[in-house]
Amino acid sequence: MINLSAPSTVRRLIRENAFRYKKSIGQNFLVDGNVVQTIVKAAGAAPGQFFLEIGAGFGALTQGLANSGASVVAVEIDAVLAEVTRKLLADYPQVQIVTGDALRLDLASLVPPGQRCRVAANLPYYITSPLLIKLVESDLPVELLVVMVQKEVGERLLAAPGTKDYGALSVKLFFHAEVELVAQVPRTVFFPPPHVDSAILRLLPRPFPYPAADPATFSRVVRAAFAHRRKNLKNALLAAGLAAEALLETAGMDGKRRGESLSPEEFGRLSLAAAACR
Ligand code: SAM
Repeated sequence: MINLSAPSTVRRLIRENAFRYKKSIGQNFLVDGNVVQTIVKAAGAAPGQFFLEIGAGFGALTQGLANSGASVVAVEIDAVLAEVTRKLLADYPQVQIVTGDALRLDLASLVPPGQRCRVAANLPYYITSPLLIKLVESDLPVELLVVMVQKEVGERLLAAPGTKDYGALSVKLFFHAEVELVAQVPRTVFFPPPHVDSAILRLLPRPFPYPAADPATFSRVVRAAFAHRRKNLKNALLAAGLAAEALLETAGMDGKRRGESLSPEEFGRLSLAAAACR
């Protein structure tokens, strides 16, 4: 079986299939076996486990996961690429390549009934935020996600309240999961190399550790607080059509603060106030 993360393999596959890679949909392929192994290890891939992979590409990560003995369903939007990779991985009966857009597919329907699932992906960067939100907010039975993201997105997801990187995405993901950095990755591990470096993150889904309202209400107050970074909290809530004064009084919060200074715990309190003031 050929090694799908070898630089010479990826170049040859591109040449032999006259494949015109599209940078606009994140077609930068991993050509470093050590990085594949870092993701496989961080995801704890092992026989009996089921993995959902987003963006199969030429199968570098799919093969790494499959070599551990795990089953993999890998979604790939590019039908030509999906067909090539399906053939490349034909010797792995536990691998399935599904052609489709991960943002539109019903991902839960790809998981065998009764099976827990792990997500592993070298994500197409142009859909990182909506896809991560979809993955953690969906009813997928996910126990762990290991994803490669653009370094700057990694910094946002790991940012502390009040810092410039802290934003709606950080808080919304924190609502669902604990996020940790696995490794920083230079752009040179891809072919063609992208214009940015990357980071591998591990997300461990868990219940939100503070009192809070339902996910939709939590998400609404977070969105409102970050929608207008220049406005103070009271004006930002007003601009989102929320009863700002009642909310702030119920939550015991100063409306002159900026949204980005609120900790996840305070967003929890604000969401409870929003639910109470409906
Ligand atoms: N996993 C491969 C690797 O590590 O070499 C490819 C990673 S590449 C960064 C991202 C892959 O996602 C590309 O193959 C691209 O065609 C695919 N892709 C882009 N948008 C997608 C979408 N909306 N749904 C599914 N796959 C997508």
